[in-house]
Amino acid sequence: MLPVREPDALYPKASAVILGAGVSGLSVAMALLQRRYSVTVLERSTVGGESSWAGGGILSPLLPWDYAEPVSALALRSMAGYADWVASIEAISGRDAEFWRCGMLALGVIDPEQAMAWCAAHGMAAQPGRPQSLQLPSGVPDQDPVWMPEVAQVRNPHLVAALRAAVVQLGGVIREHCPATGVLTQGGRVTAVQSAAETFPADSVVLATGAWSGLGLAGLAATPQIRPIRGQMLLFKLAPGVLETILYRNGLYLIPRRDGHVLVGSTLEDAGFDKSTDDATRQRLHAEAAELLPALAAMQPVRHWAGLRPGSPDNIPVIDRHPDFGNVFVNTGHYRYGVTLAPASAELLVDLMEGRTPVLDPTPYRWQAALERRWADGS
Ligand SMILES: Cc1cc2nc3c(=O)[nH]c(=O)nc-3n(C[C@H](O)[C@H](O)[C@H](O)COP(=O)(O)OP(=O)(O)OC[C@H]3O[C@@H](n4cnc5c(N)ncnc54)[C@H](O)[C@@H]3O)c2cc1C
Repeated sequence: MLPVREPDALYPKASAVILGAGVSGLSVAMALLQRRYSVTVLERSTVGGESSWAGGGILSPLLPWDYAEPVSALALRSMAGYADWVASIEAISGRDAEFWRCGMLALGVIDPEQAMAWCAAHGMAAQPGRPQSLQLPSGVPDQDPVWMPEVAQVRNPHLVAALRAAVVQLGGVIREHCPATGVLTQGGRVTAVQSAAETFPADSVVLATGAWSGLGLAGLAATPQIRPIRGQMLLFKLAPGVLETILYRNGLYLIPRRDGHVLVGSTLEDAGFDKSTDDATRQRLHAEAAELLPALAAMQPVRHWAGLRPGSPDNIPVIDRHPDFGNVFVNTGHYRYGVTLAPASAELLVDLMEGRTPVLDPTPYRWQAALERRWADGS
């Protein structure tokens, strides 16, 4: 991961204005602050109040062998450094993000041999079957399991709170209820970002506006192919220790928290900027969750919500310089895995901002590559 720049009184502080205070914007903010930039984050609503709050915090693609290589490359780099990244955020902020290497048991894996071959080729720990040592509540089906012991999770709302505190501790300024509306430009560069009431001068600008990246701003083209994809979640409260590993089957997952909460997700709904939930989905998620963990059958969820993922074709984010302006950068479109991909995405973006050769090949995450990708419906 990026080296932290040593204090240097002579080094002039460049200013960066970051649009969007989700995990994508805050992780870039922290990386830039550690490199002595002065950083202002503008947030339309409240910090981390959108997808970064609504998600599950599993730190891996659900069935890692099902994804395109650019997703795997970014995910594996993030996963390898995640514990250290969280530890540094916790050390700066003094807050616990609840990183937990709880492992993930995938059930109903259609081709376990192919899954094992993929894991071996990508250095990901996995074994077919259910290890004897794995403590599971009674009734969890034993159907074509693959056990991935190193898959971890964070409690994403706590991660965002810790990131926010770290950004402030490092001298960053966060402005909530301050939607960016447009930019001022001069000679191929953006000189300032505008909100309804204020102008924020900037040496560089980072767009991390999640599902809203597909809308653009006055004077700044929208990021291609990003659209909101709604996900509904249920929350149950069990006694602590009943479930201590992530369970997955056929698109549905159960994520235990250490205090006994269990999240159940999710849906993939192309419904625009609509965060409503519905009873039919609540009943379906509840019934499917109870098939995996029968103890849930007699319980009622304590909460049901929906969030808007920054959807992108093939789940491949856009991490690049904006094509119209040399000092505008984009970190968005992380779709189902923005919490997982945050550290490696911030690392790649800051490398691009500072003109270093990145560790990962940046080609698949380029703006141009996103222009050429299509959604499954051909759009
Ligand atoms: C149900 C669900 C389950 C998920 N589970 C997981 C999981 O288990 N693991 C995982 O890795 N990922 C998961 N995700 C995906 C993950 O949450 C997202 O990919 C990630 O949070 C995206 O972060 P972001 O910062 O790009 O977007 P957001 O968190 O949405 O942040 C973007 C921010 O930009 C702000 N904004 C928009 N426009 C403007 C503007 N003009 N000016 C200023 N601010 C603006 C918004 O208000 C918002 O706060 C899940 C998502 C959902 C919805």
